[in-house]
Amino acid sequence: MSGEEAKVFVITGPSGVGKGTLIKMLRERVPDLALSVSATTRQPREGEEDGVDYHFLTEDQFQERIAAKDFLEFASYSGNHYGTLNSELDRCLAKGRSVVLEIEVQGATQVRAARPDSVQIFIAPPDPAVLRERLTGRGTDSAEAIDKRLKVAEQELGAQDDFDHRVVNDDLEAAANELESIVRSSVGGS
Ligand code: 5GP
Repeated sequence: MSGEEAKVFVITGPSGVGKGTLIKMLRERVPDLALSVSATTRQPREGEEDGVDYHFLTEDQFQERIAAKDFLEFASYSGNHYGTLNSELDRCLAKGRSVVLEIEVQGATQVRAARPDSVQIFIAPPDPAVLRERLTGRGTDSAEAIDKRLKVAEQELGAQDDFDHRVVNDDLEAAANELESIVRSSVGGS
């Protein structure tokens, strides 16, 4: 298998916009898509598993991986580090599988430079006010952490025009359809 048709999809957008839910729906519809498991120094949330949701690293371990040039991209977000390991991508692409990265905007910009052939998709809220509602409703972050995330979200929303595709997550089903059609046409068109 040459792997030449395998694509890298970068899905980004502010915290609380519904990236995780949309990616879950996308992978149910396009089961052959692999998901890259990121590394982070953030503490695991309840129910999160090491190696499944993230590779949870200490600050020292993360710095060692930076020094070893193990990351395709990495960024600081809301007081923690997050990064995509080259090994995650290689593992999927070597099998000819397209892979999805769910990352924040600074990382997406780095991937665009490193892999200009990646397909970049920005998920936008219908109205920035829904981000606070969703983050509060999710119940996974403290009020202080939510405020930090919303500050970052303002900057992230300012970068949305830099992306190849923009999907507004107003109606979940409609957004999932749009995402699926972007992915199918990119893979089919390669
Ligand atoms: P959370 O703490 O909510 O899991 O993630 C916080 C932010 O970091 C989200 O916007 C998420 O998409 C992003 N993120 C997750 N993994 C990575 C990664 O590997 N690299 C980058 N740059 N951002 C990531």
